[in-house]
Amino acid sequence: MSDCLFCKIRDGQIPAAVTFRDEDVLAFKDISPKAPFHQLVIPIRHLASLATATTEDTALLGKLMLVGARLARESGQAEGGFRVVMNAGADAGQSVLHVHLHVLAGRVLAWPPG
Ligand code: AMP
Ligand code: ZN
Repeated sequence: MSDCLFCKIRDGQIPAAVTFRDEDVLAFKDISPKAPFHQLVIPIRHLASLATATTEDTALLGKLMLVGARLARESGQAEGGFRVVMNAGADAGQSVLHVHLHVLAGRVLAWPPG
């Protein structure tokens, strides 16, 4: 989508600190980290929200989780613990309408979230 922030990052039109890329997913550091480790994992293909995802997206959504877990593990964050979060819709705080998995770690994460 031409007016999508994360499509622009995917296409190199907006810079980002990319940590992983393959044919399906892209990962980069969150510009406003909410924890010492905070990365976003997005699908290469524009997908607006988990709320509108379908069974066709099953493998892709699973891959976001596994890539997020691997990034946390390879950064030494798996032993202490990490959290993956996907906000869907305005009330949940989704501000960018391109699916993204937050991977947070590096501090004790409170529960429940706000
Ligand atoms: P959400 O509020 O769940 O939609 O998450 C959007 C996330 O994107 C927030 O954590 C922002 O800090 C992050 N973000 C916004 N713009 C950028 C950018 N240019 N590069 C990296 N992360 C960004
Ligand atoms: Zn997009």
